[in-house]
Amino acid sequence: MKKLTINGGRSPVRKNKIGYGKQFIDDEDIKAVVDVLQGDLITCGPKVSELEHKLCNLTGAKYAVVLANGTAALHVACLAGKIKPEDEVITTPMTFAASANCVLYCGSKPIFADINPETYNIDPDDIERKINKNTKAVIAVDFTGQAVELARIMDICRKHNLLLIEDAAHSIGTKYNGKPIGSIADMTTFSFHPVKTVTGGEGGAILTNSKEYYDKLMLYRTHGIAKNSSQMIYPTGELWYYEQVDLGYNYRLTDFQAALISSQLNKLDKFSYRRKEIVQNYDEAFSKVPEIIIQKEIPESDTTRHLYIIRLRLDMLNATRKQIFDALYAENIGCNVHYIPVYWHPYYQKLGYKKGLCSNAEKLYEEIISIPLYYSMTDEDVDGVIEAVNKVTDYYRKE
Ligand SMILES: *Cc1c(COP(=O)(O)O)cnc(C)c1O
Repeated sequence: MKKLTINGGRSPVRKNKIGYGKQFIDDEDIKAVVDVLQGDLITCGPKVSELEHKLCNLTGAKYAVVLANGTAALHVACLAGKIKPEDEVITTPMTFAASANCVLYCGSKPIFADINPETYNIDPDDIERKINKNTKAVIAVDFTGQAVELARIMDICRKHNLLLIEDAAHSIGTKYNGKPIGSIADMTTFSFHPVKTVTGGEGGAILTNSKEYYDKLMLYRTHGIAKNSSQMIYPTGELWYYEQVDLGYNYRLTDFQAALISSQLNKLDKFSYRRKEIVQNYDEAFSKVPEIIIQKEIPESDTTRHLYIIRLRLDMLNATRKQIFDALYAENIGCNVHYIPVYWHPYYQKLGYKKGLCSNAEKLYEEIISIPLYYSMTDEDVDGVIEAVNKVTDYYRKE
């Protein structure tokens, strides 16, 4: 057994640190951005509508609205869905805080439904249990990129007349029963943060098939100001005239970010392919490690994975999750933990959410580590991560 670097061993698996996620920007991306910067319009120009068209083509959705970031997308999706202070919205605790914060932005109440302990996605049975007369919507998150159980969740939403917003920040490129994510839920949101599969530095999008939502989303993206007379209350016909008809925000995306995202989307197939390849290598390697549980995939989801999570059988290891995490870090494998259950955060505790609400999510959180997964990882990088995980689990294995 090799001495771990954290215990004074002299040969870390990697010489230099690798992070858990990283963007890939090539010369074409850079040229796309520079072209916009050298032109006349750097916001709300042609690249924004070009990107919207591209997202419609990619997903099969009728309408796309791009915005400043994925959180803004979730916020205006809630506004367009008329989420009101008296409403409740059901979401998962195993997500980034933004999936629930957007409900708070509307003055309404997020209700947390527990996850399936094998897929880690929101459990449709628990959604049903949490529905009451105040429930207005479900925000389902395709955690790590795997599609949620959309067929069942859509049935539930139809039966109870609920809006379904799919937070697809992780799942661009994923298909559900052969259909691209983005074309299925009432509204689907993407994020283009640098750790996500496709990036614009920052950026977000909403996909929908509803003209009614689309018109609302466009209004809320720009202050609630109507420029087109069909949306005005008192159209005058004057060329300069505009009218604020609702309270909106400045959630616009710049043209150079739109150009970057568009250029990145040209590489989505390549990105997906490589991510799937790495996931396959990891799955194969870790299925041989009895102390590690790998995430279960539902057959309906053809997943472009954003995150790779190893779940530790701590009962079989002489170490805590923190010790394993720190040991991997010392071997120069940058890891992370996705996620702390949303309602554990002090802000949510102050709002009155109690620990113990969702036991599957809480147990999962105690046992997981996200290991590096990104397009430009080399085979040596992947082998290094596998070697480090093996080295650390070998060391701490209970006899
Ligand atoms: C990244 C992320 C968001 C927020 O996206 P931003 O573009 O960073 O605002 C929302 N939900 C989930 C699940 C995310 O991972």
